[in-house]
Amino acid sequence: MRIPDIIIAVDGYSSTGKSSFAKMVAAEFGFLYLDSGAMYRGVTLVAMEKGMIDAGGKIDEPALKATLDKGLDLHFRRDEGLTRLFLGERCIEEEIRTLAVSSHVSPVSAIPFVRSFVDDKLHEFSRGGRVIMDGRDIGTTVFPNAEVKIFMTADELVRAQRRFDELVSKGQVPVFDEVLANLKERDYIDSHREASPLTQAPDAYVMDNTHMTMHEELVWMLGLLQGRFGILEAPALSC
Ligand code: C5P
Repeated sequence: MRIPDIIIAVDGYSSTGKSSFAKMVAAEFGFLYLDSGAMYRGVTLVAMEKGMIDAGGKIDEPALKATLDKGLDLHFRRDEGLTRLFLGERCIEEEIRTLAVSSHVSPVSAIPFVRSFVDDKLHEFSRGGRVIMDGRDIGTTVFPNAEVKIFMTADELVRAQRRFDELVSKGQVPVFDEVLANLKERDYIDSHREASPLTQAPDAYVMDNTHMTMHEELVWMLGLLQGRFGILEAPALSC
């Protein structure tokens, strides 16, 4: 049996490995992967580059709103199996992953007009279904009717170490305590903001992957999908 053309929503705290998990599931089961955090990071990068965030972190909201209202060409492109974020013709996948963007993205994404701009884009890109999307409010706000919802969590220090390793692998020179502080701050802002805060949807399946390998995550997902949609063909997993 083939998995139907459903929407799979993956939410959870920062650096729980949502995007690695979602990309793996997308590749394994033939889904389109969409990273909603990338869109918020893209808006944040634009705000930073246009000088709309001052040294104290204050955001010039009217200027940002005017930019979004004019129409910002942020879109995903598929490139050798990867989904990359573009601003017009410029690939901004690298720039949006720096600690500088990470340190401003949560206040930017707490602004309601930013959320509705991103939500509209996410709905546009998901037309047709068969999508797995990760973020903070996918199963609660963006796709409250998603057929499968997953909520990911993991120990805070383990998450900070993963993030630290990821930044190092990209050639950055992070300080562990700064990475940990950023992660805690983002979790706090994301969970306490008024506009669609990070919360676990009541019908979400919870995965704590503190001690799980990627292979174990995939086996877990396969078990879940088998339970929901019957026996799947080809359980021979690729990793
Ligand atoms: O997933 P990632 O860590 O790249 O997301 C960056 C930030 O974007 C999060 O810390 C959060 O502030 C924001 N975000 C959000 N809602 C989403 C996805 C991301 O507010 N659905």
